[in-house]
Amino acid sequence: MSLESTYHVQIRATAYSRDHNMRILNTMAARAIPLVPRSLIRKISRRYIAGETLFDARARIDVLHAAGFRTTVDVLGETASSSDQAESMARDYLNLVQELGVENEPTELSIKLTALGLHLDESACVTRVSMILRAAALQGISACIDMENISCTQKTLDAFLKLEADGYPVGIALQSYLVRTNDDIVPLQARKSRMRICKGIYAEANEHLVNGASKDRAAINAHFVRHVTSAIEAGSFVGIATHDADLIDTLTDWLERERIDRSRFEFQMLLGVCEPLRDALLAQGFNVRVYVPYGHDWYGYSTRRIKENPRIAGYILAAMLRSPLAR
Ligand SMILES: Cc1cc2nc3c(=O)[nH]c(=O)nc-3n(C[C@H](O)[C@H](O)[C@H](O)COP(=O)(O)OP(=O)(O)OC[C@H]3O[C@@H](n4cnc5c(N)ncnc54)[C@H](O)[C@@H]3O)c2cc1C
Repeated sequence: MSLESTYHVQIRATAYSRDHNMRILNTMAARAIPLVPRSLIRKISRRYIAGETLFDARARIDVLHAAGFRTTVDVLGETASSSDQAESMARDYLNLVQELGVENEPTELSIKLTALGLHLDESACVTRVSMILRAAALQGISACIDMENISCTQKTLDAFLKLEADGYPVGIALQSYLVRTNDDIVPLQARKSRMRICKGIYAEANEHLVNGASKDRAAINAHFVRHVTSAIEAGSFVGIATHDADLIDTLTDWLERERIDRSRFEFQMLLGVCEPLRDALLAQGFNVRVYVPYGHDWYGYSTRRIKENPRIAGYILAAMLRSPLAR
């Protein structure tokens, strides 16, 4: 074996062992979350969630807009278990639109279809979303349909295609960790649909994932780059939703090399995550949109995310250790 290949084997072995140790730590942290006092989760989640009320959201959005960011606003909510619950969520979005529309700012809505009844009655869900999008469009506000777990993927695509065909200004999130995205993106590119490309947050079975492995970061990133570049080349507007600095470097290199106009894409990041990276992109003149979740379901949102992706438990655990509140 040459010196070079021995060196590569050693690097891979070290990286494997580091990833393996991180996974064990993160899984332990995820299991420990129910033991963490609710008050502490609440304090930590303040960084990631704008607050419980429309007033809280408005205040956070104003600060972001004043700093030059765009926003996309998500009303936190559980999967609707009754049509009343879905209707209540639709009303929350309509109130949000009314509040946002007053000054017609650089904002959009992020919408989870399950909160609007996707699993109860697809057609009623689409009717509710249409109502929200119509009200939003009147105020010059667009929307993005979030992508949820694999049980929702096809229904979400179907609903999106209908809403888009009806002429609403709407985009859809696609997950680069899913094999099926390779096919799902093709008709969307042909239509120049507006897209958000993200890695994907849910704990899916390996059979659905690229390379059949849940933690194959290199494969997920390669797909991410391919989806972003091919969608932009096809003429879609693309939201590049990641905090992964290497991935962002690779994409900014490509975007600059190909002289892609900055009006054809934007970077997107979650509220409270990797703020220095977000600020640096803005300072370089890129458009950056911040995902702003708010609502009463802050605990459900936080703990669900932690259970769905133990990796995030590691972030929360680190925040707990850093936070004076944890001491
Ligand atoms: C605007 C936006 C919209 C999204 N919409 C969807 C969606 O519709 N459907 C979906 O499945 N997923 C969605 N996601 C989540 C996404 O799929 C990833 O799970 C998440 O962004 C983490 O992956 P990453 O690309 O940042 O890369 P990673 O490699 O996971 O993370 C890169 C670095 O970012 C930091 N980081 C990442 N997440 C956090 C966090 N929560 N707290 C603190 N630090 C963090 C860490 O330092 C990490 O090392 C969205 C993400 C963003 C930014």
